[in-house]
Amino acid sequence: MSAQDSPAQPPAASPSTGTGTGSGTGTGTEYADVPSWQWPESVWRGHVEAVRAGRTLLPPRWPQGARAAVALSFDSDHETIPLRDGETSPGLLAQGEYGARKGAGRVLELLERHGAPATFFMPAVSALLHPDEARRYVGEGHEIAVHGWIHERNTLLGADDEKALIRRARETLSDVTGREATGIRTPSWDFSDSTLETILELGFRYDSSLMADDEPYEVLANGRATGLVEIPVDWIRDDAPYFTMDRFGALRPYTRPRDVLEIWKDEFDAAYREGGVFQLTLHPHVIGHRSRLVVLRELLDHIGGHRDVWFATHDQLAAAVREQLDSPEPGRSSGPENSGSALHGPDGTGAGTVGSASASTENRPRPATHAPTEQPR
Ligand SMILES: [Zn+2]
Repeated sequence: MSAQDSPAQPPAASPSTGTGTGSGTGTGTEYADVPSWQWPESVWRGHVEAVRAGRTLLPPRWPQGARAAVALSFDSDHETIPLRDGETSPGLLAQGEYGARKGAGRVLELLERHGAPATFFMPAVSALLHPDEARRYVGEGHEIAVHGWIHERNTLLGADDEKALIRRARETLSDVTGREATGIRTPSWDFSDSTLETILELGFRYDSSLMADDEPYEVLANGRATGLVEIPVDWIRDDAPYFTMDRFGALRPYTRPRDVLEIWKDEFDAAYREGGVFQLTLHPHVIGHRSRLVVLRELLDHIGGHRDVWFATHDQLAAAVREQLDSPEPGRSSGPENSGSALHGPDGTGAGTVGSASASTENRPRPATHAPTEQPR
């Protein structure tokens, strides 16, 4: 996101000519210096089609007969944010250290009190700095997943470097925790032209870095199905944009924590009504402060007051929706199938915890949901 990009390039190609690179996708580098309004259709279409949302993946029923799924995630970045930028001042590092020293423990206690499993995306350097914390995540029944080596920015890397760092990060998490990570979230949700290919090559079961839907979906590469499950995120459901500030920046966006609670309650309530997924991305060094942890506590109380909520790790959620990849039609439509009677879980994946309310077998009609097929053309 460089503000230096000049839009005033001299015309180098006629927009009315050409079919791009001739490669069929038209994302060739020969247009890198050509302003976008001069790109032929093959170029702008090629960029859009490179990584795209395929069909929505919602199972006909959530496991354990639940009405909606809740997937909580915590990016345990800690000191890696300043380190990534080569910022080594003790002052900045201490802000990250807070996440390990105070935030993570508070988060874990809260999750335990609610019986809620979560996914911790942890940069490998963070896991090496705090190995006991990484092992505690796994030991308390949570998932640990890849979040880069040192929270690097993938779009600044060459493809080989990016792949080497992701591979090394996964191996490091495995060495520290004894658990093989099955999922990945790119640091800062920064997704390069090489990221998807790398994720597929390294055999991850899901990604959680993209934002094309509220519900899980299959990722397409140039119109082709990849079999990769995307558990989408969004800045709306992330604590960092609301609470973090740059001491020397001109802008200091800051939202009252209780206002953020209202936003996230609204997000959950709508997901619950639609029978979908409520996914949240938090950071121990951000949400772990006293006046902000209130938000998470009251949010979990609010969710816990609803019947039939399935708390799942991202891996468990990906497994539950993955079955739809093998079915000829998407599992959920707004048809009568959703008003059915038997609300037993389809598979006994046994994942997660049904929310605090009882009567998970109640015959509650499933709400009609949107699940339009978004097939490639
Ligand atoms: Zn992060």
